[in-house]
Amino acid sequence: MSGHFIPDGLPAHIRHYIDGQSVDSVGGERFPVLDPVTNANYATAAAGQKADIALAVTAATRAFREGPWPHMKARERARILNKVADAIEDSETRLAELETFDTGLPITQARGQARRAAENFRFFADLVVAQLDDAMKVPGAQLNYVNRKPVGVAGLITPWNTPFMLESWKLAPALAAGCTVVLKPAEFTPLSASLWAGIFEEAGLPQGVFNLVNGLGEEAGDALVKHPGVPLISFTGETTTGQTIFRNAATNLKGLSMELGGKSPCVVFADADLDAAIDSALFGVFSLNGERCTAGSRILVERPIYDEFCEKFAARARNIVVGDPHNPATEVGALVHPEHYAKVMNYVEIGKSEGRLLAGGGRPAGLDTGNYVAPTVFADVGPESRIFQEEIFGPVVAITPFEDDAGALALANGVKYGLAAYVWTNNLRRAHTFAQALEAGMVWLNSHNVRDLRTPFGGVKASGLGHEGGFRSLDFYTDQQAVHITL
Ligand code: NAD
Repeated sequence: MSGHFIPDGLPAHIRHYIDGQSVDSVGGERFPVLDPVTNANYATAAAGQKADIALAVTAATRAFREGPWPHMKARERARILNKVADAIEDSETRLAELETFDTGLPITQARGQARRAAENFRFFADLVVAQLDDAMKVPGAQLNYVNRKPVGVAGLITPWNTPFMLESWKLAPALAAGCTVVLKPAEFTPLSASLWAGIFEEAGLPQGVFNLVNGLGEEAGDALVKHPGVPLISFTGETTTGQTIFRNAATNLKGLSMELGGKSPCVVFADADLDAAIDSALFGVFSLNGERCTAGSRILVERPIYDEFCEKFAARARNIVVGDPHNPATEVGALVHPEHYAKVMNYVEIGKSEGRLLAGGGRPAGLDTGNYVAPTVFADVGPESRIFQEEIFGPVVAITPFEDDAGALALANGVKYGLAAYVWTNNLRRAHTFAQALEAGMVWLNSHNVRDLRTPFGGVKASGLGHEGGFRSLDFYTDQQAVHITL
């Protein structure tokens, strides 16, 4: 494709990082890595197998048992985590370029992800220093206190949407808590993860604390989940993968944190600020190419404003700039991989018989190659249809009318997922009662998806198990031992 930006110094091959060394798989296995704009095979990556996971777990176990990482004072660990944040900020431009090249995310949005990744490290550095020790007294009778101990080697398995930022979301609390880690990044997008080794070395993280094994989920990911020396797995990805991991982790009774899929509703009442709701709903489903777990991919609109909403929303969707992700004017880039593109396009075709097509509906004009999908809007979508029920994970939205609050609630809760929800109304009482009744882990009232890192992040129903965010993340990576003393 002419004019397609290719970052300087791209690696031709991406390796694992085990015990401070950049290494290939023991058996030499590799897999191809594609550029989503051209689908050219621009690099290979080492495809980790059971033997490679075993080496990484051995290194992480030694670093945990022999230290110094788990035994360092919280302040000392925090100093290193802040240096990690500095290094991420210093490499923001490079990081954003690589992330955009590998994922197809618009460059302006990839930059935001780099800043958020640095913020995750600063946040958990602060939090672990500020953490208070619990002590409980029964005057004259008993003193009880809690020893907090890092659990051990944490297995971190991450998806390909905003890969670097989501990796930071697990790495920062695991390391802050004193765990050592084995990271298995998503196979579609191994490029930005290859920066971690240099960042951690520059910050002075002791050897063996951070290990990374690339590879396919069914091979490297599976071996990590089944390894008896890894007591806990933090996973973000599809609900069906989460179910497989849940089953496979049962033998060794592992601790599990699961952030899974979503089909989040954006509910717009007739009394809402319509322009603000439309702005936010567009951002909610089309930012990050729609490849966003918290995407507001079902828009429910109260009948009196339904036609006006559909018309205005579709007009805006038709004006979204789709194109080369490296162009700063681009609002929707290329989907991550041809397999995912085929999945999204299949839903676009299904939608044509399930709803009324108002915008998009296929490949945008003038973009004949690469994984481009025009922002696609279907109206009059029934609650039983597949595009209402199933996670598409692309720039495709279903709009459905409702008549009253009870009807809106039934539609909003009428899917197996329960990750996020967005509500637009100027009625304060309705906003709060409706939020309370929603089956969703997170609700945004009259607001965009912006999150304070202290708040719980996680879903209910098929969207997840456990919460991340603030002290909840530190708790996951920490054993709490109660010590009782009779006075
Ligand atoms: P995925 O489940 O296909 O893969 C996620 C990771 O799991 C990858 O690293 C993959 O290699 C690995 N994996 C796959 N099979 C495995 C197995 N059998 N054992 C161990 N590991 C295995 O998900 P994806 O397509 O990469 O990501 C998109 C999904 O992630 C969407 O469903 C999205 O909603 C979800 N997601 C959720 C959140 C959240 O916080 N709730 C955030 C981002 C993405």
